Amino acid sequence: MTIQSKGACDACKTNRWHEQLSPIGTNVTTDEGMAGSTHYDFLQCTQCGSILARYEDKGLGKGGPFFKRITEGFF
Ligand SMILES: [Zn+2]
Repeated sequence: MTIQSKGACDACKTNRWHEQLSPIGTNVTTDEGMAGSTHYDFLQCTQCGSILARYEDKGLGKGGPFFKRITEGFF
């Protein structure tokens, strides 16, 4: 399947969850020792093709989930 993209959609540009996001790839958990860990999963927008990383801190600096559009700079 190929997505014909006209650039990142407005929903993806806001860097938050929206209905067009679909899980891709493999989840990652980093081990940061005393600082805890960060959990990542990856989502692709079925409308514009953007890939967002969703990450959540576990441990001392608990926070999230946060989203970062990792295709920013490409389209
Ligand atoms: Zn999108």
